[in-house]
Amino acid sequence: MIYIRRRDLIVASLALGATVLGASAAFARSGKTSAKPPPAPAIKKPKKAVPKPKLIVLDPGHGGKDPGALGLRGTEEKQVVIKVARDLQQQLQAGGRYRVLLTRNGDTFIPLRERVARAEEAKADLFLSIHADSHPDADVRGASVYTLSEEGSDREADALAARENGAGVQLSRHSDVVAKMLVTMSQRGTVNDSRRFADTIVQTFGRSGVRLLPRSHREAGFAVLTSPDIPAALVELGYLSNRYDEKLLTVPQHQAALGRALRASVDAYFGTGTATRKA
Ligand SMILES: [Zn+2]
Repeated sequence: MIYIRRRDLIVASLALGATVLGASAAFARSGKTSAKPPPAPAIKKPKKAVPKPKLIVLDPGHGGKDPGALGLRGTEEKQVVIKVARDLQQQLQAGGRYRVLLTRNGDTFIPLRERVARAEEAKADLFLSIHADSHPDADVRGASVYTLSEEGSDREADALAARENGAGVQLSRHSDVVAKMLVTMSQRGTVNDSRRFADTIVQTFGRSGVRLLPRSHREAGFAVLTSPDIPAALVELGYLSNRYDEKLLTVPQHQAALGRALRASVDAYFGTGTATRKA
């Protein structure tokens, strides 16, 4: 983040310098001389090296007929995640470094493949799917982050992927599809970048005091993470089946805090080593 800001500053200083120099030249020309000076040759302004804003696609899970996980007090996952996504969208756009698209901006049902297709069509630089989970054990709480893999890092991650994929998509039973996809993603650097992104989320959550599950970065066959060119992660913000998590997830200040931590994760991701990407 600091690096970019400094670079922005340098670009701004250069632009300012050019303006000042231009003004001095004009001032010098306006001096009291009897002969009209020849017209100054047109000076081509150097193109500003303003970095192109990165396009972030945020994917609030579920929507419409699909409420997602349900809380003990009736909180619906689809409502929590759209609030956090909108908060994060505002925060990311505020700095001018990012453009942000949401895969759904209202309470509508969008199939997972459609979400992936929208991100691909828009040529997203990064994809983040936002969810909240539920668990049969009401004591389980904390956030976790997931990236795509052929086999789940554990049985719970597999079960989660099956839940998030929904009845229409049985990705884990067709792991050859994921396997092929992963080969392509690996060749294009997408696997490493996705993992790096997931790790930055875990780190910034840790620093921001967001409670995390043990082994916070896990892997499984999530259908929504299957774009070969777009680094992607899925975050579970907490468990609606836990009364503390459910309460927190409905508090606007906590939603904003999650947004801030996720924005810091995106900043950290782009601030370190994006040059390693081949695509
Ligand atoms: Zn979900």
